[in-house]
Amino acid sequence: MIKVEGLVKRFDGTAVLDGIDLAIEQGEIIVVIGPSGTGKSTLLRCLNFLEQPDAGRLTIGDLEVDVTRASRADILTARRRTAFVFQNYALFANKTALENIAEGLIVVNRWPKQKAHARAREILERIGLADKADAFPASLSGGQQQRVGIGRAMAAQAEVILFDEPTSSLDPEWVEEVLGLMKQLARERQTMLVVTHEMSFAQDVADRVIFMDGGHIVEQGPPGQLFGSPKDPRTQDFLRKVL
Ligand code: ATP
Ligand code: MG
Repeated sequence: MIKVEGLVKRFDGTAVLDGIDLAIEQGEIIVVIGPSGTGKSTLLRCLNFLEQPDAGRLTIGDLEVDVTRASRADILTARRRTAFVFQNYALFANKTALENIAEGLIVVNRWPKQKAHARAREILERIGLADKADAFPASLSGGQQQRVGIGRAMAAQAEVILFDEPTSSLDPEWVEEVLGLMKQLARERQTMLVVTHEMSFAQDVADRVIFMDGGHIVEQGPPGQLFGSPKDPRTQDFLRKVL
């Protein structure tokens, strides 16, 4: 269970997140949508302390902290429990697919190399890239690179995987294979918080869709309800443009 209460993040005095409250149940698949610049990425980054929030409480499993008082150890715990999948994959160019997946286990979880590599091989199998273990990112397609990025997040066995527009950098031909892997994770009830413009993914997979605007959660609900009968004019206006 993950809980965010009163989360605030300011840049140059402007509140980009203006008091976000959000609870995520274990196994829940949440899709976050909203116009550009409304704080979607910032929300994900604050959960992972990639950005230092300015106010709020964060609960991740048995970790419960006032974000302004989080110790170094609290931050590391939060990072271990939240895995991040980036739009631009963020793989190490000088490491193989296998090493990219194993790296966090070695550095963050302090696993011995052999154990981490064994886990990475299992993951490569699950993401359909067993034959690419020794390939470097530059020799992989965009879709394959992002599957490695997701594999790295899977290896972490985090409470939640945070996806920030995981298909937005991909050539159209690779989008489906990445969404397919995400759907597989959703079927396994991996808890996920996904920022995406892929409305059909949200429609098919999400338990809940959240519409954000101006640093607020404006409206949320099951996809059928949010897409079918949005209540707030801002949601209606946004959906008219994207659906
Ligand atoms: P998009 O759909 O374009 O990815 P978003 O909803 O993810 O948008 P954020 O990236 O969270 O939006 O940005 C929210 C606001 O915060 C924007 O106005 C952005 O310019 C600002 N912002 C984000 N990161 C920083 C930063 N490091 N320094 C200053 N301002 C920032
Ligand atoms: Mg963003």
